[in-house]
Amino acid sequence: MQKGLWQMAFSWLTEPVMPVPSVVPVVKRKAVKHIDLDLTQWCRDTATSLGLTELAKTVEVVWNSRMRSTAGRAWWPQRLIELNPKVKEHDPEQSARTLRHELAHLIAYERAGRRKIAPHGIEWRHACAELGIGGESVCHQLPLPRRTHAKRFLYYCPQCRIEIKRVRKIKGAMACLACCRSHNGGHYDKRFRFVERHH
Ligand SMILES: [Zn+2]
Ligand SMILES: [Zn+2]
Repeated sequence: MQKGLWQMAFSWLTEPVMPVPSVVPVVKRKAVKHIDLDLTQWCRDTATSLGLTELAKTVEVVWNSRMRSTAGRAWWPQRLIELNPKVKEHDPEQSARTLRHELAHLIAYERAGRRKIAPHGIEWRHACAELGIGGESVCHQLPLPRRTHAKRFLYYCPQCRIEIKRVRKIKGAMACLACCRSHNGGHYDKRFRFVERHH
């Protein structure tokens, strides 16, 4: 897995969030999201058992029908887990594992607070082990047919030179989160705005 895939980005148009695993679009597409009360309750109980009271109070699990080949995503500090309904159809057992994978992200971020951690670093792996999925892979992708159209837009961070590919043109400003974190305390900084690379 390419390192760049796990690089994160955010936009000044939205609240600073922690998208996992990859960059998020600036424009929020309308998505059909159904909260899953059972899975939400399971996460709340698990967080309670780990003594993470804030997480236990607010974590929510939703099924997002607009997700394509990404199995799950975790958002912090929103404390939201999005799951791809295709996971259920593809392999029901996998949805329990995906849920644990994503909850492990929230647990790791919850414990880290403002301290910067790697998305799939030691804190996440530790949380995975606590949730019974030690040795979990960092991959969020489903073995589903990918969208057929190629990612036509190529961008790079002028600082770290990481490249990201997008199907659509980036609207608005989007900066490299890794560099914003390293050099600007995690706040949006136009110096690290992604630049389009023309082939
Ligand atoms: Zn992950
Ligand atoms: Zn960068």
